Amino acid sequence: MIERFDVIIIGSGAGGGTIAHALSDTGARILILERGDFVPQEEENWSPEAVWKDLRYRTGERWLDEAGREFLPYMHYNVGGNTKFWGSVLYRLRREDFGAVQHIDGISPAWPIDYDTLEPYYARAEALYQVRGTNGVDPTEPLRGAFPREAVPHSRGMSDIVDQLKRLGLHPSPLPLGLRDGCILCNTCNSFVCKLHAKSEADVCCVRPAMARQNVTLWTKAFARRLLADSGGERISAVEVERHGETLRVEAPLFIVACGAVNSAALLLRSATSARPEGLANSSGMVGTRYMAHLATMMEGFHPFRKNDTVFQKTVAINDFYFHGPDTPYPLGHIQSQGRTHAVMAQTVAPWIPLWAYDAWVSRGVDWLAMSEDLPSARNRVTVEPDGRIRLSYQPNNVKAHEQLVKETKRILHQLGFWYVMSYSHKNRNTTHQCGTLCFGTDPKASVLDPFCRAHDVPNLFVVDASFFPSSAAVNPALTIAAQALRVADHIKETEL
Ligand SMILES: Cc1cc2nc3c(=O)[nH]c(=O)nc-3n(C[C@H](O)[C@H](O)[C@H](O)COP(=O)(O)OP(=O)(O)OC[C@H]3O[C@@H](n4cnc5c(N)ncnc54)[C@H](O)[C@@H]3O)c2cc1C
Ligand code: SF4
Repeated sequence: MIERFDVIIIGSGAGGGTIAHALSDTGARILILERGDFVPQEEENWSPEAVWKDLRYRTGERWLDEAGREFLPYMHYNVGGNTKFWGSVLYRLRREDFGAVQHIDGISPAWPIDYDTLEPYYARAEALYQVRGTNGVDPTEPLRGAFPREAVPHSRGMSDIVDQLKRLGLHPSPLPLGLRDGCILCNTCNSFVCKLHAKSEADVCCVRPAMARQNVTLWTKAFARRLLADSGGERISAVEVERHGETLRVEAPLFIVACGAVNSAALLLRSATSARPEGLANSSGMVGTRYMAHLATMMEGFHPFRKNDTVFQKTVAINDFYFHGPDTPYPLGHIQSQGRTHAVMAQTVAPWIPLWAYDAWVSRGVDWLAMSEDLPSARNRVTVEPDGRIRLSYQPNNVKAHEQLVKETKRILHQLGFWYVMSYSHKNRNTTHQCGTLCFGTDPKASVLDPFCRAHDVPNLFVVDASFFPSSAAVNPALTIAAQALRVADHIKETEL
């Protein structure tokens, strides 16, 4: 049987969930296809063993790296996508991120839209995801109105650190966080599912409210295998879906792809036809290229005689090196405090060290993340193997900027009195902030999507996940994904529905 809808959205994370919510009031018959299922509310949501040792919610799918070695990507396939597990740090890009910026390793390219174009949608996205913050403190912050909610207050320990940072001449600011009513500020937020549904994520903020409307249907465990286009590859008529062991064909006049930057590129590549052997929407040859993921290093300042009694630690940002370093005119990146590391999490790095030793360590540690922009490069790309497996070829660039940021962060933590600073990076296997594989732009030869995220080659195809980023900036990506999804939804309402 062939089913028909008015709009088919593939993926239910930051991009797909947000646009489903935004289009749900149109009356259009919307089908959301999601390859995963709902994550149950259960004890294991907050269990470090279940989450970090048993990898209970992680996909078991293996990808290949550049050299053809298998690895387990840090990915979750479920309703809400990776937002279920995010740290809910919901940042706007800086105004400068929308222009071309010179970095140590090259130029971070300009976006086809500017900050002012996205600003009203940032405000709407912050309202939808109930972001808490304080404006006017972060010196890099672009012009904006008040946050929907007051910032989460710092714990006593973090407040002391903020005072120390200010005495060092730095400008710490509150992290913008999406936390809903009922949040108890626990120590199992980032990388965990919120058992109370108090984290602002796409499942609870968008997908469930959208499904309350009769015109919205969600199929879980529904894997979109291929988009089926006409012989010229210029119009999609249907999507081939694998569900409950069957292969179905579902038709619609409009398709919105939001599978995440890697899987969306893979879907378009898998949708190649004899007329379009290079893949769908790929006349530019850019589908899958320019993959970016941030350079990220987790750091922990340790003091043997200072017990850390903070429960919710993730409230502080340092953007003093966002536009330049102390000794360099080039941007270094962003520093943010992190959720508490649990001994089980730390043990995944060096499993031979006993848990009690990690316990002693992490109870005296304060956790930070140093994050730098990586630059788009044609060689960093997603491809699909003949057997359907995803290959992710990625060599980090702008490494020197990141090394300097890590060095600065270490210097600051030592100045705060920490005896030792431990650091760890997933390096080229970090997939959490993946973006850039279907870049948007005005030139069809140099981009896959137009500035409203419509495929240049295929007018009835939009892509609204992290794929469209021309550059990765150095703050967390998801609020920008959500804001652009809202902008695209307005455009679709004006032009298509
Ligand atoms: C542990 C962790 C912490 C993070 N913390 C933050 C943070 O604090 N702030 C921030 O901004 N970002 C954070 N991120 C990143 C953020 O989650 C992502 O940037 C964001 O979710 C990307 O949105 P998306 O729509 O591109 O993809 P996703 O949210 O990943 O959604 C893609 C969806 O598509 C589905 N899908 C994929 N392929 C198919 C297919 N073929 N058929 C059907 N369905 C498919 C997937 O199952 C998934 O539900 C974090 C990520 C992780 C993993
Ligand atoms: S209660 Fe609050 S801090 Fe804890 S997981 Fe839920 S949203 Fe995060």
